[in-house]
Amino acid sequence: MARNFRQFWKLGEKEFNTEFFNINKDGELVIREGNNQYNVVDLARKFGSSLEIFLPFILEKRLDHLFDVVSDTSKELGYKGKFSYHFPMKVNQNKEYVLPLVSEGANLEVGSANELWLVKRLWEGENFYSKIRVLCNGPKTQKYIQLIHQLRAAGLGIVPIIEDIEELRLLKDFKGDMGIRVNLQSKVKSHWDKKVDRFGLTSQEILELGKIRNLKVLHYHIGSQIEREDDILVVLEEAFQTYKKLRVISPTLDTINVGGGFAIPYEKKRMYSVESVVKRILTHLKRMSEEAGIPHPNWIVEWGRYMAAPSQITVFKIVATKEIAKAAAKQWYIIDGSFMNDLLDTWAIHQKWHVVAVNQMKEKRHRVWLAGMSCDSDDKYTAKDGYVLLPRLEDLPPGDDLYIAIFDTGAYQDAFASHHCLLSSPVKVALQNGIATIIRKRESAEDVGKLFGW
Ligand SMILES: *Cc1c(COP(=O)(O)O)cnc(C)c1O
Repeated sequence: MARNFRQFWKLGEKEFNTEFFNINKDGELVIREGNNQYNVVDLARKFGSSLEIFLPFILEKRLDHLFDVVSDTSKELGYKGKFSYHFPMKVNQNKEYVLPLVSEGANLEVGSANELWLVKRLWEGENFYSKIRVLCNGPKTQKYIQLIHQLRAAGLGIVPIIEDIEELRLLKDFKGDMGIRVNLQSKVKSHWDKKVDRFGLTSQEILELGKIRNLKVLHYHIGSQIEREDDILVVLEEAFQTYKKLRVISPTLDTINVGGGFAIPYEKKRMYSVESVVKRILTHLKRMSEEAGIPHPNWIVEWGRYMAAPSQITVFKIVATKEIAKAAAKQWYIIDGSFMNDLLDTWAIHQKWHVVAVNQMKEKRHRVWLAGMSCDSDDKYTAKDGYVLLPRLEDLPPGDDLYIAIFDTGAYQDAFASHHCLLSSPVKVALQNGIATIIRKRESAEDVGKLFGW
Protein backbone atom coordinates (compact mmCIF):
# COMPACT_ATOMS: atom_id res chain seq x y z
CA MET A 1 0.00 0.00 0.00
CA ALA A 2 2.64 2.51 1.10
CA ARG A 3 4.42 1.83 -2.13
CA ASN A 4 1.31 2.63 -4.18
CA PHE A 5 0.90 5.96 -2.44
CA ARG A 6 4.54 6.79 -2.96
CA GLN A 7 4.08 6.03 -6.64
CA PHE A 8 0.92 8.08 -6.86
CA TRP A 9 2.65 11.15 -5.42
CA LYS A 10 5.77 10.36 -7.52
CA LEU A 11 8.11 10.39 -4.53
CA GLY A 12 11.36 8.48 -4.05
CA GLU A 13 12.18 8.68 -7.77
CA LYS A 14 15.62 9.81 -8.81
CA GLU A 15 14.57 10.65 -12.35
CA PHE A 16 11.89 13.01 -10.97
CA ASN A 17 14.32 14.56 -8.45
CA THR A 18 12.12 13.32 -5.60
CA GLU A 19 14.51 10.69 -4.22
CA PHE A 20 14.77 12.44 -0.84
CA PHE A 21 10.98 12.57 -0.32
CA ASN A 22 8.75 9.86 1.10
CA ILE A 23 5.49 9.20 3.00
CA ASN A 24 5.51 8.13 6.64
CA LYS A 25 3.09 5.63 8.16
CA ASP A 26 0.70 8.45 9.12
CA GLY A 27 0.38 9.57 5.52
CA GLU A 28 2.61 12.63 5.90
CA LEU A 29 5.33 13.97 3.64
CA VAL A 30 8.86 13.46 4.96
CA ILE A 31 12.27 14.53 3.71
CA ARG A 32 15.37 12.37 4.27
CA GLU A 33 18.86 13.76 4.58
CA GLY A 34 21.12 10.80 5.41
CA ASN A 35 20.03 9.68 8.88
CA ASN A 36 17.96 12.79 9.50
CA GLN A 37 14.29 12.90 8.70
CA TYR A 38 12.09 15.99 8.58
CA ASN A 39 8.31 15.95 8.76
CA VAL A 40 6.90 18.69 6.55
CA VAL A 41 3.52 19.11 8.26
CA ASP A 42 5.27 19.51 11.63
CA LEU A 43 7.48 22.21 10.11
CA ALA A 44 4.46 24.01 8.65
CA ARG A 45 2.69 23.93 12.03
CA LYS A 46 5.81 25.12 13.82
CA PHE A 47 6.91 27.92 11.48
CA GLY A 48 3.54 28.75 9.99
CA SER A 49 2.63 28.94 6.33
CA SER A 50 3.12 30.04 3.64
CA LEU A 51 6.52 28.42 4.03
CA GLU A 52 9.49 27.92 1.77
CA ILE A 53 11.70 24.98 2.68
CA PHE A 54 15.22 25.15 1.33
CA LEU A 55 17.27 21.96 1.21
CA PRO A 56 20.96 22.81 0.80
CA PHE A 57 22.01 19.16 0.86
CA ILE A 58 20.05 18.57 -2.36
CA LEU A 59 21.81 21.47 -4.04
CA GLU A 60 25.22 20.12 -2.97
CA LYS A 61 24.41 16.58 -4.05
CA ARG A 62 23.28 17.75 -7.47
CA LEU A 63 26.51 19.61 -8.06
CA ASP A 64 28.65 16.71 -6.79
CA HIS A 65 26.72 14.35 -9.01
CA LEU A 66 27.34 16.53 -12.06
CA PHE A 67 31.09 16.62 -11.30
CA ASP A 68 31.11 12.82 -10.90
CA VAL A 69 29.25 12.22 -14.14
CA VAL A 70 31.58 14.53 -16.07
CA SER A 71 34.69 13.00 -14.55
CA ASP A 72 33.58 9.39 -15.18
CA THR A 73 32.45 10.14 -18.72
CA SER A 74 35.64 12.05 -19.60
CA LYS A 75 37.70 9.08 -18.43
CA GLU A 76 35.57 6.61 -20.30
CA LEU A 77 35.79 8.57 -23.56
CA GLY A 78 39.35 9.81 -23.17
CA TYR A 79 38.16 13.43 -23.26
CA LYS A 80 40.97 15.81 -22.39
CA GLY A 81 39.22 19.20 -22.15
CA LYS A 82 38.64 20.67 -18.68
CA PHE A 83 35.14 21.11 -17.29
CA SER A 84 33.76 23.98 -15.20
CA TYR A 85 30.33 24.59 -13.77
CA HIS A 86 29.22 28.23 -13.51
CA PHE A 87 26.10 28.93 -11.46
CA PRO A 88 24.03 31.67 -13.14
CA MET A 89 23.21 33.91 -10.21
CA LYS A 90 19.94 35.19 -11.64
CA VAL A 91 18.43 31.74 -11.02
CA ASN A 92 18.66 32.28 -7.27
CA GLN A 93 20.76 35.06 -5.77
CA ASN A 94 19.97 34.16 -2.16
CA LYS A 95 23.16 33.91 -0.16
CA GLU A 96 22.17 30.52 1.23
CA TYR A 97 22.04 29.18 -2.34
CA VAL A 98 25.23 30.72 -3.63
CA LEU A 99 27.50 29.87 -0.68
CA PRO A 100 27.08 26.07 -0.65
CA LEU A 101 27.52 25.91 -4.42
CA VAL A 102 30.69 27.95 -4.34
CA SER A 103 32.10 25.92 -1.48
CA GLU A 104 31.42 22.70 -3.44
CA GLY A 105 33.40 23.98 -6.44
CA ALA A 106 30.96 25.99 -8.54
CA ASN A 107 32.10 29.09 -10.39
CA LEU A 108 29.65 31.91 -11.07
CA GLU A 109 27.96 33.70 -13.94
CA VAL A 110 26.50 37.16 -13.35
CA GLY A 111 24.23 39.26 -15.53
CA SER A 112 24.37 42.68 -13.95
CA ALA A 113 26.54 45.08 -11.95
CA ASN A 114 24.46 44.42 -8.86
CA GLU A 115 25.00 40.67 -9.04
CA LEU A 116 28.71 41.30 -9.50
CA TRP A 117 28.63 43.54 -6.45
CA LEU A 118 27.47 40.51 -4.42
CA VAL A 119 30.46 38.59 -5.77
CA LYS A 120 32.66 41.44 -4.60
CA ARG A 121 31.18 41.11 -1.11
CA LEU A 122 31.94 37.38 -1.12
CA TRP A 123 35.45 37.95 -2.45
CA GLU A 124 36.23 40.55 0.21
CA GLY A 125 34.84 38.25 2.89
CA GLU A 126 37.25 35.56 1.62
CA ASN A 127 34.37 33.17 1.32
CA PHE A 128 35.97 31.93 -1.85
CA TYR A 129 38.12 29.27 -3.18
CA SER A 130 40.73 31.56 -4.75
CA LYS A 131 40.71 29.96 -8.20
CA ILE A 132 37.05 30.73 -8.79
CA ARG A 133 36.12 32.30 -12.11
CA VAL A 134 33.25 34.67 -12.76
CA LEU A 135 31.72 35.18 -16.19
CA CYS A 136 30.07 38.54 -16.78
CA ASN A 137 27.11 38.63 -19.14
CA GLY A 138 24.46 41.28 -19.60
CA PRO A 139 24.67 44.91 -20.74
CA LYS A 140 28.00 46.43 -19.70
CA THR A 141 27.15 49.74 -18.06
CA GLN A 142 29.92 52.05 -16.84
CA LYS A 143 29.40 50.87 -13.29
CA TYR A 144 29.55 47.23 -14.36
CA ILE A 145 32.77 47.75 -16.32
CA GLN A 146 34.39 49.62 -13.43
CA LEU A 147 33.58 46.76 -11.10
CA ILE A 148 34.98 44.24 -13.59
CA HIS A 149 38.30 46.16 -13.68
CA GLN A 150 38.32 46.56 -9.93
CA LEU A 151 37.80 42.87 -9.24
CA ARG A 152 40.41 41.80 -11.76
CA ALA A 153 42.88 44.15 -10.06
CA ALA A 154 41.98 42.49 -6.74
CA GLY A 155 42.97 39.10 -8.19
CA LEU A 156 39.61 37.57 -9.02
CA GLY A 157 39.42 35.45 -12.18
CA ILE A 158 36.87 37.47 -14.09
CA VAL A 159 35.88 37.04 -17.73
CA PRO A 160 33.64 39.61 -19.42
CA ILE A 161 31.53 38.15 -22.22
CA ILE A 162 31.14 40.49 -25.17
CA GLU A 163 27.53 40.65 -26.27
CA ASP A 164 27.73 43.41 -28.84
CA ILE A 165 30.35 45.30 -30.81
CA GLU A 166 30.11 48.39 -28.63
CA GLU A 167 31.15 46.32 -25.62
CA LEU A 168 34.35 45.29 -27.35
CA ARG A 169 35.26 48.97 -27.60
CA LEU A 170 34.28 49.64 -23.97
CA LEU A 171 36.50 46.80 -22.81
CA LYS A 172 39.50 47.53 -25.01
CA ASP A 173 41.68 48.33 -21.97
CA PHE A 174 40.78 45.11 -20.24
CA LYS A 175 43.88 42.91 -19.97
CA GLY A 176 42.35 39.66 -18.75
CA ASP A 177 40.63 36.76 -20.48
CA MET A 178 37.61 37.58 -22.59
CA GLY A 179 34.62 35.71 -23.95
CA ILE A 180 32.21 36.40 -26.76
CA ARG A 181 28.59 35.41 -27.16
CA VAL A 182 27.31 33.97 -30.40
CA ASN A 183 23.66 34.19 -31.33
CA LEU A 184 23.04 30.87 -33.07
CA GLN A 185 20.57 30.22 -35.88
CA SER A 186 19.35 26.83 -34.61
CA LYS A 187 16.06 26.94 -32.76
CA VAL A 188 15.07 24.65 -29.92
CA LYS A 189 11.74 23.57 -28.44
CA SER A 190 11.36 25.72 -25.35
CA HIS A 191 9.13 28.50 -24.06
CA TRP A 192 12.02 30.89 -24.73
CA ASP A 193 12.58 29.91 -28.33
CA LYS A 194 11.98 33.37 -29.75
CA LYS A 195 12.28 34.18 -33.44
CA VAL A 196 14.46 37.14 -32.63
CA ASP A 197 16.77 37.44 -29.71
CA ARG A 198 18.68 40.59 -28.84
CA PHE A 199 21.61 38.79 -27.22
CA GLY A 200 24.97 38.11 -28.81
CA LEU A 201 26.50 38.52 -32.22
CA THR A 202 25.97 36.32 -35.25
CA SER A 203 28.74 33.97 -36.23
CA GLN A 204 29.44 36.11 -39.31
CA GLU A 205 29.78 39.27 -37.21
CA ILE A 206 32.17 37.57 -34.80
CA LEU A 207 34.38 36.20 -37.56
CA GLU A 208 34.58 39.65 -39.16
CA LEU A 209 35.86 41.29 -35.96
CA GLY A 210 39.41 40.12 -36.52
CA LYS A 211 41.69 38.98 -33.73
CA ILE A 212 40.43 39.55 -30.18
CA ARG A 213 43.13 39.82 -27.54
CA ASN A 214 42.99 37.08 -24.86
CA LEU A 215 39.82 35.57 -26.26
CA LYS A 216 39.22 32.36 -24.29
CA VAL A 217 35.53 31.54 -24.31
CA LEU A 218 32.91 31.16 -27.01
CA HIS A 219 29.58 31.39 -25.24
CA TYR A 220 26.00 30.73 -26.24
CA HIS A 221 22.73 30.38 -24.37
CA ILE A 222 19.87 29.19 -26.48
CA GLY A 223 16.93 29.09 -24.06
CA SER A 224 15.64 27.62 -20.83
CA GLN A 225 13.82 24.33 -20.11
CA ILE A 226 14.91 22.83 -23.45
CA GLU A 227 12.41 20.07 -24.09
CA ARG A 228 14.32 17.78 -26.44
CA GLU A 229 17.70 16.26 -25.73
CA ASP A 230 18.62 16.29 -29.43
CA ASP A 231 18.29 20.08 -29.55
CA ILE A 232 21.16 20.43 -27.08
CA LEU A 233 23.42 18.61 -29.54
CA VAL A 234 22.18 20.44 -32.62
CA VAL A 235 23.15 23.83 -31.17
CA LEU A 236 26.49 22.46 -29.97
CA GLU A 237 27.31 21.37 -33.51
CA GLU A 238 26.45 24.78 -34.88
CA ALA A 239 28.51 26.54 -32.22
CA PHE A 240 31.47 24.28 -32.88
CA GLN A 241 31.61 25.44 -36.50
CA THR A 242 32.11 29.00 -35.27
CA TYR A 243 34.57 27.87 -32.59
CA LYS A 244 36.72 26.08 -35.14
CA LYS A 245 36.91 29.10 -37.49
CA LEU A 246 37.37 31.59 -34.68
CA ARG A 247 40.35 29.68 -33.28
CA VAL A 248 42.22 30.32 -36.51
CA ILE A 249 41.79 34.08 -36.01
CA SER A 250 42.17 34.15 -32.20
CA PRO A 251 44.28 31.11 -31.24
CA THR A 252 43.94 31.75 -27.49
CA LEU A 253 40.34 30.49 -27.75
CA ASP A 254 40.10 27.15 -25.94
CA THR A 255 36.68 26.95 -24.23
CA ILE A 256 33.08 26.42 -25.32
CA ASN A 257 30.37 27.56 -22.93
CA VAL A 258 27.08 25.81 -23.70
CA GLY A 259 25.06 28.12 -21.41
CA GLY A 260 21.96 26.97 -19.56
CA GLY A 261 18.74 25.28 -20.60
CA PHE A 262 18.85 21.80 -19.08
CA ALA A 263 15.21 21.03 -18.25
CA ILE A 264 13.56 19.98 -14.99
CA PRO A 265 10.75 17.37 -14.99
CA TYR A 266 8.30 19.71 -13.24
CA GLU A 267 5.40 17.52 -14.30
CA LYS A 268 7.15 14.32 -13.21
CA LYS A 269 7.14 12.87 -16.66
CA ARG A 270 10.20 11.06 -17.94
CA MET A 271 12.84 13.37 -19.48
CA TYR A 272 16.47 13.20 -20.55
CA SER A 273 19.15 12.48 -17.97
CA VAL A 274 22.35 14.32 -17.14
CA GLU A 275 24.34 11.10 -17.74
CA SER A 276 23.06 10.86 -21.27
CA VAL A 277 23.46 14.56 -22.12
CA VAL A 278 27.03 14.73 -20.80
CA LYS A 279 28.00 11.62 -22.72
CA ARG A 280 26.54 12.92 -25.94
CA ILE A 281 28.12 16.38 -25.55
CA LEU A 282 31.56 14.88 -24.96
CA THR A 283 31.22 12.32 -27.75
CA HIS A 284 30.32 15.14 -30.16
CA LEU A 285 33.05 17.50 -28.99
CA LYS A 286 35.66 14.76 -29.16
CA ARG A 287 34.69 13.70 -32.66
CA MET A 288 34.37 17.24 -34.03
CA SER A 289 37.64 18.48 -32.57
CA GLU A 290 39.57 15.39 -33.70
CA GLU A 291 38.17 15.76 -37.21
CA ALA A 292 39.21 19.43 -37.17
CA GLY A 293 42.66 18.51 -35.84
CA ILE A 294 42.39 20.74 -32.76
CA PRO A 295 42.63 19.94 -29.03
CA HIS A 296 39.49 18.89 -27.17
CA PRO A 297 37.92 22.17 -26.01
CA ASN A 298 37.51 22.99 -22.36
CA TRP A 299 33.81 23.26 -21.66
CA ILE A 300 31.49 25.14 -19.36
CA VAL A 301 27.86 24.62 -18.45
CA GLU A 302 25.57 27.16 -16.81
CA TRP A 303 22.63 24.87 -16.08
CA GLY A 304 20.81 26.97 -13.52
CA ARG A 305 17.30 25.66 -13.27
CA TYR A 306 18.69 22.11 -13.32
CA MET A 307 20.88 22.82 -10.32
CA ALA A 308 18.57 24.98 -8.24
CA ALA A 309 14.91 24.06 -8.75
CA PRO A 310 14.67 20.74 -6.84
CA SER A 311 16.24 22.05 -3.64
CA GLN A 312 13.24 24.07 -2.52
CA ILE A 313 9.55 23.32 -1.93
CA THR A 314 6.81 25.80 -1.09
CA VAL A 315 4.17 24.82 1.45
CA PHE A 316 0.70 26.32 1.74
CA LYS A 317 -2.30 25.66 3.98
CA ILE A 318 -5.74 25.32 2.46
CA VAL A 319 -7.76 28.04 4.19
CA ALA A 320 -11.08 27.90 2.34
CA THR A 321 -12.92 26.06 -0.42
CA LYS A 322 -15.54 26.98 -2.97
CA GLU A 323 -17.68 24.76 -5.20
CA ILE A 324 -17.18 24.98 -8.98
CA ALA A 325 -20.09 24.30 -11.28
CA LYS A 326 -19.45 22.24 -14.44
CA ALA A 327 -15.69 22.29 -14.90
CA ALA A 328 -12.73 19.92 -14.91
CA ALA A 329 -12.46 20.45 -11.14
CA LYS A 330 -15.06 20.23 -8.39
CA GLN A 331 -13.74 22.75 -5.87
CA TRP A 332 -11.47 25.71 -5.50
CA TYR A 333 -8.91 25.28 -2.74
CA ILE A 334 -7.76 28.69 -1.50
CA ILE A 335 -4.14 28.73 -0.26
CA ASP A 336 -2.64 31.03 2.37
CA GLY A 337 -0.22 32.53 -0.14
CA SER A 338 -0.24 33.64 -3.73
CA PHE A 339 0.78 32.20 -7.07
CA MET A 340 1.15 35.67 -8.54
CA ASN A 341 3.43 36.78 -5.72
CA ASP A 342 5.27 33.70 -4.51
CA LEU A 343 5.38 31.55 -7.67
CA LEU A 344 5.13 34.14 -10.36
CA ASP A 345 5.91 31.81 -13.27
CA THR A 346 2.49 30.22 -12.72
CA TRP A 347 1.02 33.45 -14.04
CA ALA A 348 3.82 34.63 -16.33
CA ILE A 349 4.56 31.51 -18.37
CA HIS A 350 1.83 29.08 -17.19
CA GLN A 351 4.41 27.01 -15.39
CA LYS A 352 3.15 23.56 -14.42
CA TRP A 353 4.04 22.28 -10.96
CA HIS A 354 4.03 19.01 -9.09
CA VAL A 355 1.56 19.49 -6.24
CA VAL A 356 1.69 17.04 -3.34
CA ALA A 357 -0.45 16.81 -0.20
CA VAL A 358 1.69 17.21 2.91
CA ASN A 359 -0.72 15.36 5.25
CA GLN A 360 -3.67 13.01 4.58
CA MET A 361 -1.59 11.51 1.77
CA LYS A 362 -3.30 8.14 2.01
CA GLU A 363 -6.86 9.49 1.86
CA LYS A 364 -9.26 9.62 -1.07
CA ARG A 365 -8.68 12.50 -3.45
CA HIS A 366 -10.82 14.66 -5.70
CA ARG A 367 -10.24 17.18 -8.48
CA VAL A 368 -9.49 20.73 -7.43
CA TRP A 369 -8.14 24.01 -8.70
CA LEU A 370 -5.94 26.17 -6.51
CA ALA A 371 -6.41 29.89 -5.92
CA GLY A 372 -4.16 32.40 -4.20
CA MET A 373 -5.17 34.90 -1.55
CA SER A 374 -4.75 38.06 -3.58
CA CYS A 375 -7.81 39.82 -4.90
CA ASP A 376 -6.85 38.93 -8.48
CA SER A 377 -8.73 36.41 -10.62
CA ASP A 378 -5.44 35.49 -12.31
CA ASP A 379 -4.03 34.31 -9.00
CA LYS A 380 -4.70 30.62 -9.58
CA TYR A 381 -3.27 27.30 -10.63
CA THR A 382 -5.45 25.03 -12.76
CA ALA A 383 -2.66 22.89 -14.24
CA LYS A 384 -3.36 24.58 -17.59
CA ASP A 385 -7.08 23.84 -17.56
CA GLY A 386 -6.53 20.42 -16.09
CA TYR A 387 -6.93 19.76 -12.40
CA VAL A 388 -4.97 18.80 -9.30
CA LEU A 389 -5.85 15.70 -7.27
CA LEU A 390 -5.88 16.42 -3.52
CA PRO A 391 -7.45 14.91 -0.41
CA ARG A 392 -10.96 16.03 0.54
CA LEU A 393 -11.22 18.39 3.46
CA GLU A 394 -14.25 16.54 4.86
CA ASP A 395 -11.98 13.53 5.53
CA LEU A 396 -9.66 15.53 7.82
CA PRO A 397 -9.70 14.75 11.53
CA PRO A 398 -11.63 17.50 13.36
CA GLY A 399 -9.54 20.61 13.93
CA ASP A 400 -6.89 19.60 11.35
CA ASP A 401 -5.83 21.58 8.31
CA LEU A 402 -4.73 20.32 4.93
CA TYR A 403 -1.30 21.44 3.73
CA ILE A 404 0.13 21.10 0.26
CA ALA A 405 3.64 21.37 -1.17
CA ILE A 406 4.65 22.67 -4.55
CA PHE A 407 7.89 21.00 -5.68
CA ASP A 408 10.90 22.42 -7.57
CA THR A 409 10.42 26.07 -6.58
CA GLY A 410 14.14 26.84 -6.09
CA ALA A 411 14.74 28.44 -9.49
CA TYR A 412 13.71 31.97 -10.47
CA GLN A 413 10.64 32.36 -8.23
CA ASP A 414 12.33 34.33 -5.44
CA ALA A 415 13.77 37.07 -7.60
CA PHE A 416 10.44 37.49 -9.37
CA ALA A 417 8.44 37.56 -6.13
CA SER A 418 6.17 40.56 -5.69
CA HIS A 419 3.65 42.10 -3.31
CA HIS A 420 0.34 42.27 -5.15
CA CYS A 421 -2.38 43.22 -2.64
CA LEU A 422 0.51 43.72 -0.22
CA LEU A 423 0.51 40.09 0.87
CA SER A 424 3.53 39.00 2.93
CA SER A 425 6.14 36.72 1.37
CA PRO A 426 6.52 33.19 2.75
CA VAL A 427 8.74 32.54 5.73
CA LYS A 428 11.82 30.57 4.65
CA VAL A 429 13.61 27.82 6.56
CA ALA A 430 16.69 25.80 5.64
CA LEU A 431 17.03 22.17 6.72
CA GLN A 432 20.52 20.84 7.30
CA ASN A 433 22.10 18.26 9.61
CA GLY A 434 18.74 17.69 11.29
CA ILE A 435 18.27 21.36 12.15
CA ALA A 436 15.70 23.81 10.79
CA THR A 437 16.91 27.42 10.64
CA ILE A 438 14.81 30.44 9.72
CA ILE A 439 16.60 32.30 6.95
CA ARG A 440 13.87 34.77 6.11
CA LYS A 441 11.30 35.92 8.62
CA ARG A 442 7.70 36.45 7.69
CA GLU A 443 7.11 40.06 6.71
CA SER A 444 4.90 42.09 9.01
CA ALA A 445 2.42 44.66 7.69
CA GLU A 446 5.02 47.25 8.66
CA ASP A 447 7.79 45.53 6.63
CA VAL A 448 5.59 45.40 3.55
CA GLY A 449 4.38 48.97 4.03
CA LYS A 450 7.98 50.18 4.17
CA LEU A 451 8.61 48.86 0.66
CA PHE A 452 5.96 51.31 -0.50
CA GLY A 453 7.18 54.33 1.40
CA TRP A 454 4.90 54.04 4.44
C1 LIG B 1 19.44 32.44 -17.62
C2 LIG B 1 20.78 32.02 -18.07
C3 LIG B 1 21.28 30.76 -17.72
C4 LIG B 1 20.49 29.74 -16.93
O1 LIG B 1 19.48 29.14 -17.68
P1 LIG B 1 18.71 27.85 -17.12
O2 LIG B 1 17.62 27.65 -18.09
O3 LIG B 1 18.22 28.19 -15.76
O4 LIG B 1 19.67 26.72 -17.12
C5 LIG B 1 22.56 30.44 -18.11
N1 LIG B 1 23.31 31.31 -18.83
C6 LIG B 1 22.86 32.52 -19.21
C7 LIG B 1 23.73 33.41 -19.99
C8 LIG B 1 21.58 32.92 -18.85
O5 LIG B 1 21.13 34.11 -19.23
